[in-house]
Amino acid sequence: DLEVAIKVVIVGNGAVGKSSMIQRYCKGTFTKDYKKTIGVDFLERQIELDGEEVRLMLWDTAGQEEFDAITKAYYRGAQACVLAFSTVDRDSFEAATSWKMKVEDECGDIPTVLVQNKIDLLDQSVVDPEEADLLSRALGCRLIRTSVKEDVNVNAVFRHLAACCLQE
Ligand code: GDP
Ligand code: MG
Repeated sequence: DLEVAIKVVIVGNGAVGKSSMIQRYCKGTFTKDYKKTIGVDFLERQIELDGEEVRLMLWDTAGQEEFDAITKAYYRGAQACVLAFSTVDRDSFEAATSWKMKVEDECGDIPTVLVQNKIDLLDQSVVDPEEADLLSRALGCRLIRTSVKEDVNVNAVFRHLAACCLQE
């Protein structure tokens, strides 16, 4: 039985919760400490999907996104993408399209999920639900609303991407 391994890149503006999502999914932990670095290029988690073992390698950016300095090495060989923005950060929502284009430039048209994180802060939202739906349609990818903090829908993001990759 061949094991499937999938490199997933997680892009989006700083502070939307990318590192937290990787940590949550791979280690089951969450902290409020901003700018923590996971200290490695990626974390991984193995799941079973339709009887197949799938190894997901989730690549973190170590904060380079703030300097627009993400290197080609980060994108190289990526087979799936999480495109993340925050419920309480308008700029991060507006930047999602350009993040999608950067990934497309380096990786082509790989399975991508648009993630609206921090839905635990919905009462402070700066993004209308309709806008987010429209954006996901315009980008041609599914929208999943998550709270990494409260562990809502994080598994769904990666199961969806793994399923898309297995179908290809
Ligand atoms: P990154 O720059 O995109 O990697 O973002 P981080 O993972 O460093 O998270 C930035 C901040 O947002 C940290 O203080 C996290 O604890 C916090 N954070 C991440 N996810 C959530 C969430 O779902 N809800 C809330 N309320 N805070 C979150
Ligand atoms: Mg980070």
